[in-house]
Amino acid sequence: MAIVEAIKTAKNAPRKLRISNPATLEEIGVITVTDAEATKAAVRRAREAQREWAQRPIKERCRLMYRALDVLMKNQDEYMELIIKETGRGRAETLMMEILAAADTMAWFAKRGPKELADRRVATPTILKAKKLIQTYKPLGVVGIIAPWNGPFVMGISPAIPALIAGNAVVIKPSEVTPFSGMLIQDLFAEAGFPNDLLQVLPGDGETGAALIDAGVNKISFTGSTATGRKVAAACGQNLIPCTLELGGKDAMIVCADANLERAAAGALAASMFNTGQFCCATERCYVVESVAEEFISLVVEKARELRQGTDGDQDISVMIWPKQLEIIQDHMDDAVQKGATVLVGGRQHPDLNGAWEPTVLTNVTHSMKIMTEESFGPILPIMIVPDQHAAVQLANDSKYGLSGTVWSRSEKNAIAVAKQVETGSVCINETALTFGVHNAPFGGVKDSGMGYVHGPDALKSFCQPVPLIVDRLGMKTEQNWYPLTADKFEGMQKFVKVFYGSVLRKVFG
Ligand code: NAD
Repeated sequence: MAIVEAIKTAKNAPRKLRISNPATLEEIGVITVTDAEATKAAVRRAREAQREWAQRPIKERCRLMYRALDVLMKNQDEYMELIIKETGRGRAETLMMEILAAADTMAWFAKRGPKELADRRVATPTILKAKKLIQTYKPLGVVGIIAPWNGPFVMGISPAIPALIAGNAVVIKPSEVTPFSGMLIQDLFAEAGFPNDLLQVLPGDGETGAALIDAGVNKISFTGSTATGRKVAAACGQNLIPCTLELGGKDAMIVCADANLERAAAGALAASMFNTGQFCCATERCYVVESVAEEFISLVVEKARELRQGTDGDQDISVMIWPKQLEIIQDHMDDAVQKGATVLVGGRQHPDLNGAWEPTVLTNVTHSMKIMTEESFGPILPIMIVPDQHAAVQLANDSKYGLSGTVWSRSEKNAIAVAKQVETGSVCINETALTFGVHNAPFGGVKDSGMGYVHGPDALKSFCQPVPLIVDRLGMKTEQNWYPLTADKFEGMQKFVKVFYGSVLRKVFG
């Protein structure tokens, strides 16, 4: 049984989807897919609400965001219950990935927003010293957010927070796999007293997502697969609107010869198995230096065998949120085994647990295998033994993806040197991929992992149009560059250009 099923409806009636729990297969509810017309109407309402919202002082917008944080704190158990139903996940992971991450994002942007977006005086360069530059930020208008299923609440709310603080309205299209977790976001902001229609959540599938891009929004913040990301980028191009693309990954872990092996082995499992591997920054391949490989692999195997898989709420590893992912994992595993990989732990669908893949560790893997090159998005850790850390960096960079990665070495200097050679949006040292949780760090990918950043002051500003105001300071009757452009003026200007840019003055006033 699929967990997203189309329900037969009358011809021309709105489409409906039945959503079920991936662990128990019990029905959670039915959604009506938002069609193109309703999507356009939602964006129109959002634009109306945004006009008033943008007029409010940013401090007031931030005060309301703190109120939303209070609502999140009050309702967290209720929200987690629903998210767990839709994902089949454990409680600790749900708390960390959804509630804590959302709360931290709210607190960070609500505190920093007013300072980051305040009008500021910026020094003017060289010839324009007589003018004053005031940098201001205007909201873009209506921001469309399209979210995936692997973080069904946090991936929708996370970009919404800076977008709202910056003065925008937000329309979110959650994944059709987990729409009810996405719809919690609308309830949350309504309960916190945000204006009607300022934040709306439109349940639906890819058709609703595509309609949202064409509905007159001013920016799209997309999180999902690379294949869909390409379609989103093309549609945004047609509409001439900017987009942020947070896409797939195949993050590498590099274990150097001097690594703390106990920590690296525990970290390898935490990084590859978190959210049952359904994490964009999951470690999906590991390169360990030959001299420590045997000890490292035996520690990983020992710890992997201790992982508890189940559905009781306190498990380490859960079922797959989207059962179709099992087909991808099976394909990658069959391909790897057929090409010579050795399975050390797991390697199969759980025989007694519906929709679950056993935590898996394998070696003897190569880059001819899908398991080392394609995103598996499951609880799988393929480990490749390499002669030295230089070879590890080369293999880490031999990927179409470039989201994040980790380096493990007792020498911080060595680890930083290695990290700087890795072609990804971020790297963590002696730590699992934590960048998404560090709010002043810009989070984003390179290559097929996306473009643009969520988090950090730059992300906040990416939901704004920067509007520089240039103000004259001297009030003279005329200016050198105004009419008439006489020969005297030309000579004066040329002298000025030569003196200014041809001497040390360029360093003083540049
Ligand atoms: P997906 O691309 O299948 O779907 C993502 C969203 O796009 C869904 O809401 C879907 O309905 C919508 N969509 C589908 N077709 C569309 C279209 N033509 N136009 C507009 N919207 C459309 O991705 P998924 O399977 O839900 O999520 C898993 C993927 O997300 C993985 O690849 C994972 O790595 C990635 N991801 C990336 C990050 C990151 O920050 N880089 C974070 C989480 C997940």
